[in-house]
Amino acid sequence: MGNSRSGLQLQAEDLIAVQNETGFTPHQIERLYSRFTSLDKSDKGHLTREDFLRIPELAINPLGDRIVHAFFYESKNGDEDRVDFKDFVRVLAHFRPIKKNMEKNKLNTRMEKLHFAFRMYDLDGDDKISREELLAVLTMMVGANICPEQLVSIAERTIIEADTDKDNLISFEEFAKVLERTDVEQKMSIRFLS
Ligand code: CA
Ligand code: CA
Repeated sequence: MGNSRSGLQLQAEDLIAVQNETGFTPHQIERLYSRFTSLDKSDKGHLTREDFLRIPELAINPLGDRIVHAFFYESKNGDEDRVDFKDFVRVLAHFRPIKKNMEKNKLNTRMEKLHFAFRMYDLDGDDKISREELLAVLTMMVGANICPEQLVSIAERTIIEADTDKDNLISFEEFAKVLERTDVEQKMSIRFLS
């Protein structure tokens, strides 16, 4: 990997750590690394929100803004305005398709994908999805295609169906229960490397 760009070298031990945590192969990590460095326009060694907005998959995704938010939420380097390469790969690992009969405890398990999806709805990060948050995300997803009144009624119906403890909020447990029979593994798989 590159040695001319200071601060952006991926050390061998980092490569192994990233590989173990995410399940990406060394070859995939190298390709993600070159993707990362091409997004990092000014060689900062980390990405900002503006850098993410240059990713075409995110620009066309109605939930792009929420996915970008999740990158920063997941950031473990102590600076919430920066995403370093390890953060970047860790978040992308949530979208890695699941292969059968392997890869326990990896970031792309059903539970991790559910958590990731939950955080996209929980806009204020209080671990509950409110009616307003649900409505806001629904509006982002379907936007102009459905009239506002219909969206309100969808949001209300969803809350009523999901809210088993009747606090008018959807907890992660309630969220997971609603999606019990949904193929989250399939829906939360994005082929970033294809
Ligand atoms: Ca919330
Ligand atoms: Ca509830």
